[in-house]
Amino acid sequence: MQIEEKLSILSGSAKYDVSCSSSDSQRSESFGSLGSTYKSGICHAFSADGRCISLLKILFTNQCIYDCAYCINRSSNDIKRAAFTPKEIAELTVNFYKRNYIEGLFLSSGIISSEAHTMHLLLKTLKLLRHEYGFNGYIHVKLIPGAPEELIVAVSKLADRVSSNIELPSEKSLVLLAPEKSRTKVFEPLEIAKNHSMEQGKTPIGMSTQMIIGATPESDFEILRLSSALYKKALLKRVYYSAYIPVNNHINLPALLTPPPLLREHRLYQADWLMRFYHFRYDEILDTQNAFLDERFDSKLAWALRNLHFFPIEINRADKETLLRVPGLGIRSVHKILYVRRQKRLSLRDLENMKIPLKRARYFITVDGVIAAREMRGYERLESRLLALEKPLPHFQPTLFDQLQSISGEI
Ligand code: SF4
Repeated sequence: MQIEEKLSILSGSAKYDVSCSSSDSQRSESFGSLGSTYKSGICHAFSADGRCISLLKILFTNQCIYDCAYCINRSSNDIKRAAFTPKEIAELTVNFYKRNYIEGLFLSSGIISSEAHTMHLLLKTLKLLRHEYGFNGYIHVKLIPGAPEELIVAVSKLADRVSSNIELPSEKSLVLLAPEKSRTKVFEPLEIAKNHSMEQGKTPIGMSTQMIIGATPESDFEILRLSSALYKKALLKRVYYSAYIPVNNHINLPALLTPPPLLREHRLYQADWLMRFYHFRYDEILDTQNAFLDERFDSKLAWALRNLHFFPIEINRADKETLLRVPGLGIRSVHKILYVRRQKRLSLRDLENMKIPLKRARYFITVDGVIAAREMRGYERLESRLLALEKPLPHFQPTLFDQLQSISGEI
């Protein structure tokens, strides 16, 4: 099979794995090596549908001995199969890098014959790239659950980021749809990689996972609870959410024509952001009575509307964490407010001059004791006022590879 055909098959098979954002590696160019990693380089390069595009994102192979119900590469599917050799991947990466097509490599794989054999092939590829081709650029590799510890450690030493996909938010759903996997098995390689780097006294390698959203009945509350637990354990840097796109028939899966829940995915990312940067607890964002995120509003605004007793807050007095809870005020705006507030008492005119976005925030703040939304007499009809401000979100976003209709959860 020609390399172009392999590339077409194996990049198509990898495209829906969204757990490929860059780690915070900062390694500059060095004499005799090729490439470097930059904090600001690849991590911001996403396609219109939120998927990372500046990496060469491929599977080593789409052959797989597992039969995960949701995955196009499952062993029971009759699809065209292909496999690279380690040398082919190393050459592709270096050639694409030299042509400025990519800034790094995202490498995953189906399971060929055994977990150990697959991990061994990925390790061989990384060794070639790093030691023979002198490739110093960014590499993200999927760890293979069930592979021997020494292989996982060796791969983690050569990669900038590693990940292992939980795929489904509960053990029950894993049993139903991916019986060869379990939560313990999926997280074991991440624990190994983390413990190893800590034993070496190094900063833990960047680690991430992916959850498929909408294939199974778990609520957003359950999903955020799991993500929060993973962040608390400091096991993961990022959890990625991937709207489920049906590609297989299965009795326990949504029907083939069910549209992917892209808006739900978007709201989960917003809620995740609130947990990671704004110190929201998952059980503040949602609870068992309100178990799904409001699709009409962004997650912070939806929280504010359910917690009106918290508002209005006085812009001249509130601390940083309180200011961050005001809808429309992000980290940059809050820093500006805190900085200028040290020198003078802020007025509404000051906020406008400072270009603080007040479209939503003004309903939730007072400035020197005066409510910023002057037309407001209370919170009646606030929800409909705010709804009128919302721009309609597209319910379908184009993918980069419209011609390829495959999905892979990968490991
Ligand atoms: S999700 Fe991964 S392990 Fe499961 S069938 Fe697909 S490639 Fe194989």
